Amino acid sequence: MKFRFLIFILALLFSVSSAFSQGKVKIVVSVDWEGDDLQQQNLQAMKDFRRDYPEIPLQHFLNAAYYTKHQAKASEITESIKSVLLPKDEQGLHIHAWKNLVESSGVVFRTSPSFVLEGYTIADCKIDCGQEIALTGYTNAELRKIIAHSIEILNKEGFNRPKSFRAGGWQADDNVLDALAAEGFTLDSSATPADFLLPEWGKYKLYQMVKDLWMKTTPTSQPYIYKTSSGLKILEYPNNSCLSDYMTGEDMLKVFQSNARNFKKNPKKNVYLSIGFHQETAAEFLQHLREAIKLIRNSAKQNRIPIEFVVAPIKDNF
Ligand SMILES: [Zn+2]
Repeated sequence: MKFRFLIFILALLFSVSSAFSQGKVKIVVSVDWEGDDLQQQNLQAMKDFRRDYPEIPLQHFLNAAYYTKHQAKASEITESIKSVLLPKDEQGLHIHAWKNLVESSGVVFRTSPSFVLEGYTIADCKIDCGQEIALTGYTNAELRKIIAHSIEILNKEGFNRPKSFRAGGWQADDNVLDALAAEGFTLDSSATPADFLLPEWGKYKLYQMVKDLWMKTTPTSQPYIYKTSSGLKILEYPNNSCLSDYMTGEDMLKVFQSNARNFKKNPKKNVYLSIGFHQETAAEFLQHLREAIKLIRNSAKQNRIPIEFVVAPIKDNF
């Protein structure tokens, strides 16, 4: 009797442990807040999305540049942003080198490198500009000032202290990653496969700049620890399915399927997928993401792939 009881306990332990060792395809839905504008139509599209998918958390890459624009009304900006946030969301940081943000950080604004076209000059800058200037043009000390100032602005407005980051135009080189890690960031999600940008950005500098920076990034790239040249560590979480401005629902499904094939080879290990959209173009492109979610859920069901929508993997788990 005792022996049978022991077998029963062992079997129970085994089934519990194998249930815990089951991996999943973990899907992160990110939002890039460009720091450009907060139009009602885009916020409404996000509210509609939250209403229809209350179970999906969002990884927000918020932007402090809304607050540094001329005549910015901080309380209205904060109210607009918070109107589409949920407690389960992650509040990360996105930076584009807007002139007003750079200057309010105590840094001299630079006009290069532009990821749109060559020959951008200060004369091209009217009220605010700089969205297309890569962060890679700034020194480590300058970047740290811009990052710290962005955090300070967001903290003052009652947002969480960001630990995750995505660079404007995916432009995060070793220097940017080092400045982030030095400012306490544990995750960067700027790596993306350049080829997804080719149709829209092929005639601009961005395509080649992303290709040069993230040469090894593919649609099945997985999170990895990056060690900066000064020895700091940060988790690189590839935005492996890019953003819905450049991806149809079918395109994102294909990326999911490639990752699902890898998952099936070792179902005990989690596989990560990063999809997303921009707040500034939500009214136009959130429908691509809705379509992707529908297709991915159907495909996962048919192929018995366990999926879970999450906000971010933790650096210590890698
Ligand atoms: Zn951006």
